[in-house]
Amino acid sequence: MDIHEYQAKEILSGFGVAVPPGALAYSPEQAAYRAREIGGERWVVKAQVHTGGRGKAGGVSFCKSDREIERACEKMFGRKLVTHQTGPEGKGIYRIYVEGAVPIEREFYLGFVLDRSSQRVMIVASAEGGVEIEDISAEKPDSIVRSIVEPAVGLQEFQCREIAFRLGVEPKLIQQMVRTMQGCYRAFTELDATMVEINPLVVTGDDHVLALDAKMTFDSNALFRHPQVAELRDKSQEDPREARAADRGLNYVGLEGDIGCIVNGAGLAMATMDTIKLAGGEPANFLDIGGGATPERVAKAFRLVMSDRNVGAVLVNIFAGINRCDWVAKGVVQALQEVQLNVPVIVRLAGNNVDEGQNILAGSGLPIIRANTLTEAAERAVGAWKNDISQRDTKRSVS
Ligand code: GDP
Ligand code: MN
Repeated sequence: MDIHEYQAKEILSGFGVAVPPGALAYSPEQAAYRAREIGGERWVVKAQVHTGGRGKAGGVSFCKSDREIERACEKMFGRKLVTHQTGPEGKGIYRIYVEGAVPIEREFYLGFVLDRSSQRVMIVASAEGGVEIEDISAEKPDSIVRSIVEPAVGLQEFQCREIAFRLGVEPKLIQQMVRTMQGCYRAFTELDATMVEINPLVVTGDDHVLALDAKMTFDSNALFRHPQVAELRDKSQEDPREARAADRGLNYVGLEGDIGCIVNGAGLAMATMDTIKLAGGEPANFLDIGGGATPERVAKAFRLVMSDRNVGAVLVNIFAGINRCDWVAKGVVQALQEVQLNVPVIVRLAGNNVDEGQNILAGSGLPIIRANTLTEAAERAVGAWKNDISQRDTKRSVS
């Protein structure tokens, strides 16, 4: 789960990382008021959107007066910010963070990530901060310093000092650097983060080390341990289809194709998507309803898949080991009785209670296309979808 910059700054500052004075605003007037409270003569107005690269996309604005702040905010609020990370649809700006601007002497990159090959937290740092890490590693790969933290002893001071030396930090600033790194590491481990990134971490004209930007990502599976982090979730920044699925305990990833998939088990879902492609179609989603799916859960999955306007056919593929085919069948029937059926539905059931399941489908009187194998199911789904489209086209050309 991602959080906003201002939220990450608040958390990190609680762990001893220094940040500029700042405040959140929900309207241009409030932003100007916040700036007066902060004081000073120059401010930075920053769109709070779950993405990097806001600066280049018009999401960061430098202002010298109330009027400039209000104008900058009016341009941002309610708009979608499109960056190289958001995709063309962008993400909405509903919150703006106002900060006192600081004079920058040097910009560093400081990141904490999970390194899967060493199975450790890895610190990634560079003296070429301010640009994205991908650009640093493409253009100045030699400037990147990497250091692995041994979990048994945690992040040691000498290790932080060594990183600071390798970044060429002046001796008088090293203690502040150590404090910053240790604060980030403690926040990372104590809150079950998977990423902490400060870019840029700056040295100001008056010798302060400050986090000017901050990003944190958390392990969703550990959120139950941190209710104060879980409540920072902002659904306005998520793919609405995936957010709805997560709320319903379903494992859903939206894709660009036309064949909706309802499957149990991630492996079977992958195999189903492959088989759809082999049959000449494109999956519209990945949806794993999991084991022990009740009819209600299957019906929820159905409504979710059908809510995607691109879906031209739905393929249900269940291999019931823990699941029960009769429950799945009941769920399909229940969903189709509630939701207007305007696309072909193909169901393949195998495993537990398969005969009961088939009987429920057959007895429902609904136009469900049944298949015995995965290949057959995928071919029928793609065939039915293509047929459906050509029929619609014919209807359109006749009328
Ligand atoms: P991002 O583009 O989404 O990563 O947003 P950032 O918060 O990193 O802001 C973009 C850039 O604006 C930073 O890399 C800084 O160079 C610059 N910036 C942000 N805050 C300040 C500030 O207070 N003073 C100055 N001089 N520059 C700033
Ligand atoms: Mn940044």
